[in-house]
Amino acid sequence: MTTNLLDVAGVAVSPDHYIGGQRVASAQTFELHSPIDQRLLGHIGEGSAEHVDAAIRAAQAAFPAWSRMTAAERKPYLDRFAQEIGKRADDFCRLESNDAGVLLSRMRHGVVPRAMLNITWFAQHALELQDRPIDTEQAHHIVRHDPAGVVAIITPWNAPLMLSTWKLGPALAAGNTCVLKPPEWAPLTCSLLADAAHAAGLPPGVFNVVQGSGAGTGAKLVSDARIARVSFTGSVPTAKWIAQAAGANLVPCSLELGGKSPFIVLEDADIDNAAATGALMYRNAGQVCLAGTRFLVHEKIADRFVAAMRDYVERLVIGDPREESTEVGPIIHSRQVERVLGFVERAVAGGAQVLWGGERHPFGAQYVRPTMLTNLKQSDEIVQNEVFGPVLTLQTFASDDEAIELANGTDYGLGGVCYGETAHATEVAQSVRTGFIWVNSFGIRDLAAPFGGIKRSGVGREGGDWSFEFFCDIKDVVVPK
Ligand code: NAD
Repeated sequence: MTTNLLDVAGVAVSPDHYIGGQRVASAQTFELHSPIDQRLLGHIGEGSAEHVDAAIRAAQAAFPAWSRMTAAERKPYLDRFAQEIGKRADDFCRLESNDAGVLLSRMRHGVVPRAMLNITWFAQHALELQDRPIDTEQAHHIVRHDPAGVVAIITPWNAPLMLSTWKLGPALAAGNTCVLKPPEWAPLTCSLLADAAHAAGLPPGVFNVVQGSGAGTGAKLVSDARIARVSFTGSVPTAKWIAQAAGANLVPCSLELGGKSPFIVLEDADIDNAAATGALMYRNAGQVCLAGTRFLVHEKIADRFVAAMRDYVERLVIGDPREESTEVGPIIHSRQVERVLGFVERAVAGGAQVLWGGERHPFGAQYVRPTMLTNLKQSDEIVQNEVFGPVLTLQTFASDDEAIELANGTDYGLGGVCYGETAHATEVAQSVRTGFIWVNSFGIRDLAAPFGGIKRSGVGREGGDWSFEFFCDIKDVVVPK
């Protein structure tokens, strides 16, 4: 594959699209800057209507052969794909910590192994997805999971490698072909994924990457009537736009969106454990969709909880995400910094009290101190809206019922955290209206489990069988007895 390569932190990476097994350059490009120090990393191709069309045609051309293979025949390709990701582990780590500001330690120990598992686990699980027979008096039903066709995958900048593979794994294992539109603020690991797929010998057109902006390239992709599924992770406003565009073609969408998840600390919680986990919400500078961002703490333990969490927060290492010891890195973009600080300023002007943080951090232009605000009303903007930065809120409650009411009192419903005596916390957790909630823990993810949000946090579920239900056409072959 010849291509014009960028050198990003010693890693050679293509700024071009990957269409039909070839690198394709764009006349039009956009600048990519690092969130760490704003240096120019390179110029990335902006996908035109012709690039989107070529990628869809390549995916359509590859579909018959790829979809006709059995899951067992596809599995070696996907296992090799994962191995090729593994061979480039260090490069993936360096690229995503440079373009997205993701912690190098998190990339090395969490994201890259998980990206490999996203491919191998679904390849294996596809083998177990047997055609399910249903026998009645009248007929024998063979319920098939047929691949749907060309899948459009759109991912956000906060976890590009993890989320792209989370969708690619099941989509490809089910026999679909894919066109991925990576996030324009962090496009590099998705480009390297194409190198891994190429080296693994994935047939040309099975996996395509078209770089570019959301409103330009992304919009063209999701509006195309040849697309069979749209799998999107990102913000609510974009999701509404995509749902309308895909809806015009009656194309099913899976929408994994933002959150304003409650972090409940009951009166009988282990305060120190809860506080230690609480400080983890600042990892990735709070740019984590599933983080608990609204602390709801029983009024009798609130002072002790605040003191314990402050202790953990003061010890957080803020700095360069490329350093193994760093725990809080930069915010992705200067526009996002302004947005985050705007939320804080308006909250303070409205009477909020800053428990800690509330301002820029001197490490760099795109760093904001871990922040906690209190003295808030449920209707306040900062309680109701996703900030997507290192800014948390704290409210107190006097009873379980009040905690549940506050927890459920936003339009979001992605996740949650509930600390307390296990049976008590489990009971409270059951009443919180979200797609998932962790009891006395945070971040445990199992690929067999469903993942997704309710209310404004999303439509549909991915993970385990749910991914296959979305990426497949389910067909009933009825054979009379
Ligand atoms: P975003 O919606 O701005 O962009 C996401 C992707 O959509 C990008 O690739 C972008 O280029 C593309 N896009 C934008 N407009 C488009 C259009 N009209 N048509 C097609 N594609 C378009 O979101 P973001 O700022 O990149 O990401 C942050 C958001 O993602 C937050 O709300 C966060 O909570 C959410 N998120 C959710 C999950 C989850 O699993 N639920 C995971 C991570 C992030």
